Amino acid sequence: MSEVKSKYLVDERGYFGKFGGAYIPEMLYPNVEELRSAYLEIIETPAFKADFEQLLKDYVGRPTPLYHAARLSETIGAKVYLKREDLCHTGAHKVNNTIGQILLAQALGKKRIIAETGAGQHGVATATVCALMGIDCIVYMGEIDMARQKPNVERMKILGAEVRAAKSGSKTLKDATNEAMRHWINNPQDTHYIIGSVVGPHPYPDMVARFQSVISEEIKWQLEEKEGKTSPDCVVACVGGGSNAAGAYYHYLDDEQVKLVAVEASGLGNDTGKSAATTALGREGVLHGSRTILMQTDDGQVVEPYSISAGLDYPGIGPFHAHLFDSGRADFVGVTDEEAMKAGVLLSRTEGIIPAVESAHAIAALHKVSFESDDIVVVNLSGRGDKDLETYIKWGKY
Ligand SMILES: *Cc1c(COP(=O)(O)O)cnc(C)c1O
Repeated sequence: MSEVKSKYLVDERGYFGKFGGAYIPEMLYPNVEELRSAYLEIIETPAFKADFEQLLKDYVGRPTPLYHAARLSETIGAKVYLKREDLCHTGAHKVNNTIGQILLAQALGKKRIIAETGAGQHGVATATVCALMGIDCIVYMGEIDMARQKPNVERMKILGAEVRAAKSGSKTLKDATNEAMRHWINNPQDTHYIIGSVVGPHPYPDMVARFQSVISEEIKWQLEEKEGKTSPDCVVACVGGGSNAAGAYYHYLDDEQVKLVAVEASGLGNDTGKSAATTALGREGVLHGSRTILMQTDDGQVVEPYSISAGLDYPGIGPFHAHLFDSGRADFVGVTDEEAMKAGVLLSRTEGIIPAVESAHAIAALHKVSFESDDIVVVNLSGRGDKDLETYIKWGKY
């Protein structure tokens, strides 16, 4: 986590440009303030850094390879490298963040972890690190999501977490979020709330981006070894809330020669009412405690998003990415379900790697950006496809 001062990163007030901040109920203020006033000092101590790096190495399996995908490169017409976050323990990048936050919770003397989860991926990453540290874990999940994502519910239970059903409202992610917030308000002293992406009130977006920044820290020296220079021409990553993309962009933000491509899920198409392409369809507002860009109706109700991939099925993007969009630093590209699934099969056939459907969106975007044949492109392969086998089977065109 080497120090970067950038106009694209958070300022002293907790904003990325005009996005971010902490729009929270007064009751939550003491909890968020405790975290805000302590997090930087803790995560910058040598002891914290040593523990974090050790666990990333020995437990997560970092550094993850930077792999030259030669056959995929041929079909794209550029030199494509894959950053293999799919090889992290638990199968995706999310664990980089949960390892960081569990160490922070320990440093703060917290005795219990709470989290909320939609598809269950963040819940599993959280239950994993709680088992690792022997800390109690409660994961809130909408009752409908629990039925839809049974294998992840069972994974969390095997890992020793308690999964609590959110039975109010639409019985999905936002209701789970409400219940987790309520729990935190009622247990401010002994509980840490682990948020799974670069979303939520300050300091979460900044904190999560710092934990994930290990991704681009590694890309720099790995590319130096392979290409004799630290910067590629382009970095491509999918964006749900935006944590894997934030990690992949982090050390390139001020290197304006590096094109940043952010890939959103266009679902069945942006004009079908079944999409999760926030920058194409959304506008500014407040979501989950921060000022950002979100999909909303004329009178400000959050619009239900849709994507074939659970990890991209989110009605907003974090303030980190809202600022990259607003400032023009990153290009935002939409990829439909169909395009993503085809790209998932393409990667499987050319490289023997079945990607998570989220990551397949990033691969599909390679067809939508024009490259020179000698361009070096890094795609952040955020996760592996094991969890999505059912989705591939249902789609069926392979
Ligand atoms: C959760 C998830 C995502 C989306 O989350 P971000 O915070 O946008 O990175 C992407 N890919 C995989 C494999 C995921 O599990």
